[in-house]
Amino acid sequence: MAPNAGHTAKTRQRRGEGQWALGYREPLNPNERSKKDDPPLNVRARIENHYAHRGFDAIDPGDLRGRFRWFGLYTQRKPGIDGGRTAVLEPEELDDRYFMLRVRIDGGALTTEQLRLLGELSQTYARDTADITDRQNIQYHWISIEDVPTIWRKLESAGLTTMEACGDSPRVILGSPVAGISADEVIDATPAIEQIRDRYIGDPAFANLPRKFKTAISGQQDVAHEIHDVAFVGVEHPEHGPGFDLWVGGGLSTNPMLAVRLGAWLPLAEVAEVWAGVVSVFRDYGYRRLRSRARIKFLVKDWGAQRFREVLEREYLGRRLLDGPPPRVPEHPVDHVGVHPQVDGRYYVGGAPVAGRASGSMLIAAAKAAERAGAGRVRLTPQQKLVVLDVPRGEVEALRAELAEAGLRTDPSPWRRGVMACTGIEFCKLAIVETKAKANTLVAELERRLADITDGIDHPVSIHLNGCPNSCARIQVADIGLKGQIVTDAEGRQVEGFQVHLGGGLGLDAGFGRKLRGHKVTAAQLTDYVERVVRNYVAQRNEGERFAQ
Ligand code: SF4
Repeated sequence: MAPNAGHTAKTRQRRGEGQWALGYREPLNPNERSKKDDPPLNVRARIENHYAHRGFDAIDPGDLRGRFRWFGLYTQRKPGIDGGRTAVLEPEELDDRYFMLRVRIDGGALTTEQLRLLGELSQTYARDTADITDRQNIQYHWISIEDVPTIWRKLESAGLTTMEACGDSPRVILGSPVAGISADEVIDATPAIEQIRDRYIGDPAFANLPRKFKTAISGQQDVAHEIHDVAFVGVEHPEHGPGFDLWVGGGLSTNPMLAVRLGAWLPLAEVAEVWAGVVSVFRDYGYRRLRSRARIKFLVKDWGAQRFREVLEREYLGRRLLDGPPPRVPEHPVDHVGVHPQVDGRYYVGGAPVAGRASGSMLIAAAKAAERAGAGRVRLTPQQKLVVLDVPRGEVEALRAELAEAGLRTDPSPWRRGVMACTGIEFCKLAIVETKAKANTLVAELERRLADITDGIDHPVSIHLNGCPNSCARIQVADIGLKGQIVTDAEGRQVEGFQVHLGGGLGLDAGFGRKLRGHKVTAAQLTDYVERVVRNYVAQRNEGERFAQ
């Protein structure tokens, strides 16, 4: 080998990845070019001053399919286009003239006034749509560009925003729905979430990342921290007390990876600073050439935890972090559904819609019910549920009845509790199959067919439906993960169906479900299939055994 051959190959590879920290600032693909030529946050002024007045046809395509995302806006799927054509049509052929609008709700934290406003905006501007996403957001559909500035103004008057709800930016921060009131948490992470939101969301220094960046911060393990770009997990340090364990590099989609611990412990007061350090490492060293390699997980995989921590400490924090112990892993996943005591003697009450399908009317009804019970705070959960906090004991039963009336059952069947679904073909342009209605049918059918074994299910079997391989509904970490795709049925027809992943999980069972070759099911056969799998599991399990074991 020539003396410098290794060095040259390395340089070429680094340049090929487009890492800013190595001096390669010239954009290597159209997305990077677009972000460099016109910073995405600039699009807000154009929406307010131009597009909202001139209408949909005046929108520049670069804004429509790019920069709009930084404000939570995507065009929704044109109705009537089947999943088989998703991949073969041009993007503009899939675009409807209406938008999905995602409201970021950091930590899922809302007052009842905010919840009511979200419901009213839905009724006025979004045809009563308002899904609860598994990232604690509210997602509207049927939004017209003409209404966007008014919606923003109303949201902002209530302290809410759609800023960086999507795009290559720091998206909504997941947090424990029961932070500050739960006996099970090591520490209340709320101040850290608020600091990050107030200091850094909308900061141009963090608005052009290689790709999306997902954060989870919780004093207990209820936010799927293992699959986040960065996560801070509550842990008790033997000398320094309660604080956080730092994880980086998790993510699902088509190359799923679990986050790794950096072995560092930090107190609450340092979380925001360290978060900014990790995001900066990603911004400067993240791979920008290929979108498919641009998540932080690829960098972490190539570097390893030790090097990542060294770069973070040396180049961004200017100090060493303390070493710390791993967090204690809970035995079972936590979803906060049902009635639970708070540390202050009151109760929190969690209700389940079906697979996050909510509406403006439902949100308004929940806000009214909570207020009638004397509660002023609600939370959305990473399991697509809604929790009312601070309920006096004497109000619990009346509240439960009102929530149930609104479509939020606080004693749901294990099937309603365990099923999640992404947006799917109803609105999503990337979707190949329908998901929400399918989830609804599945829950109703399982409730009917499996009534005889429901008592044998001590923890819900998680069943997650995705409309495509992107894993917005976290299929790889479900007991039964269902990835939407076109499959061949018994008559040889190409129909909607699912690739099955079995036995994934988080916490004690952290790992990805097995994708069995040829293990595919048509949408029409889905209920039969799930019924068979669950019956086999219940028949064969030993006492206390979990699905993933
Ligand atoms: Fe759309 Fe696919 Fe995400 Fe579902 S998983 S919301 S179909 S991108």
